[in-house]
Amino acid sequence: MESNALMWFRKGLRIHDNPALDHARRGATRILYPVFVLDPRYLERDPSAFSPGSARSGLNRIQFLLESLADLDKSLRRLGSRLIVLRGGDPADVVIRILREWNIGKLCYEFDTEPYGQARDARVKDFASGSGIEVFSPVSHTLFDPAHVIQKNGGKPPLTYQSFVKLAGQPAPPIGQPFSSLPPVGDVGECENVGVPTIQELGYGSLGQVEFSPFRGGESEALKRLNESLVDKEWVANFEKPKGDPSAFMKPATTVLSPYLKFGCLSSRLFYQSVQEIYTNVKRHTSPPVSLVGQLLWREFFYTVAFGTPNFDQMRGNKICKQIPWSDDDKLLASWRDGQTGFPWIDAIMVQLKQWGWMHHLARHSVACFLTRGDLFIHWEKGRDVFERLLIDSDWAINNGNWLWLSCSSFFYQYHRIYSPVTFGKKYDPTGKFIRYFLPVLKDMPKEYIYEPWTAPASVQRRANCIIGRDYPRPVVSHESASKQCRLKMGEAYALNTASRGPWAARIWRSSA
Ligand code: FAD
Repeated sequence: MESNALMWFRKGLRIHDNPALDHARRGATRILYPVFVLDPRYLERDPSAFSPGSARSGLNRIQFLLESLADLDKSLRRLGSRLIVLRGGDPADVVIRILREWNIGKLCYEFDTEPYGQARDARVKDFASGSGIEVFSPVSHTLFDPAHVIQKNGGKPPLTYQSFVKLAGQPAPPIGQPFSSLPPVGDVGECENVGVPTIQELGYGSLGQVEFSPFRGGESEALKRLNESLVDKEWVANFEKPKGDPSAFMKPATTVLSPYLKFGCLSSRLFYQSVQEIYTNVKRHTSPPVSLVGQLLWREFFYTVAFGTPNFDQMRGNKICKQIPWSDDDKLLASWRDGQTGFPWIDAIMVQLKQWGWMHHLARHSVACFLTRGDLFIHWEKGRDVFERLLIDSDWAINNGNWLWLSCSSFFYQYHRIYSPVTFGKKYDPTGKFIRYFLPVLKDMPKEYIYEPWTAPASVQRRANCIIGRDYPRPVVSHESASKQCRLKMGEAYALNTASRGPWAARIWRSSA
């Protein structure tokens, strides 16, 4: 018997390698409703937030999402369909309502591993199953199904990258796109299809002229960027993450495909397969963990551990996280968040985060280490919140996983290895091009002082039109003494964790050695 199908888009904002969409159009589907529900949790304006946007998302990411939706709508229209965009509160309530009103017989959506998505989807699935609606929810955001990997590991997530890689095996290839058209969209009844709104229509109208991130959202952009990134086969074959230059910004040293993976504008399986094809055609290539495929496996690793670890996003109640008595200092936190620490390398990275929503991995290392165990000894959860809001690639599993790592709370334990906020950046960019671009106040500071402008003589500061303490802040801490203090405090915290550690902690401790 013919039925109506609902394709509920959340992430997975693409046509290619989209098993949920493919299933929705198949069989006896007469009418197919492709739907996206605007979620107030991420989109509702929060005037009290420290920069324009919602409580959980800065404007750059909201704009990226809107561009991705507009692109998806265009692609659907080419296939004889279109995107229905709904608003009206909690997405689960909205979907339950349309399941009833549109006489849906089949509901398809991509499996979501995040706790928020799990709770949302459980409500909808319960309703659908109770109403006799077929539910199809494949894993296609990641290369592997985290639940399978955990099952293969005896019910526990693997806690090291190496053990994860051993367990994971080979991912399934992307599905082809064997369709050139989609079933028609039906009548939406009482529901108001608002279409893809502009950022002004979402209530961000009074912001004046906003400059958005240079990275534009959408599947078309994602596929273009993937092709451009992979055009130089030698570059792909020789990719070694730690050797990249974190200060390269006009032409970043890595692919900048993370925001496209985050929203699912790009399939990770297509990315993986495209790189593998290059590997088969070159004499030599790098290997995980440093290779390009190795980067995709880091993503999988964090997704798997996050899925299998209760309270993964917090210190308390998180069995894989060391308990560390972080300080609470809102003034220092604000100086870091606002790019006002007085360390140009750190501040320029934080300005890049605010303006672009993206920074190189080692730049993220620098500022995360500085905030936590390196200098300020502030809780990683506070830094995580700032990243979560401002990154365009903000991703629950990966962001939390990397903050756990950088703060030496989990996975990585060499807390004595601290990034210098002065010499680390200088190695890559001795003249300070990166700093001058993102901190124009320092643009005329001579290169001898660009990483430590507080050491410039008064006459040099005057000539550079930048008086330290007036035009640009003095350093909020002395790196030498702050980092020494941090090492001491980390040592004490580690000793306490070792004294009280249970069997789980002993296992992690060994596996990290
Ligand atoms: P490439 O080097 O081109 O790698 C390709 C893809 O591999 C990336 O797009 C990403 O999906 C994946 N990848 C690369 N490095 C990592 C990694 N260390 N962990 C997991 N996956 C990785 N990445 C996010 O996507 N979202 C986040 O919210 C996020 N938060 C981070 C927070 C901190 C404190 C740190 C240190 C890193 C964080 N990362 C995050 C990981 C990493 O920095 C970015 O994925 C990477 O810089 C994105 O750039 P790219 O696409 O050019 O990466």
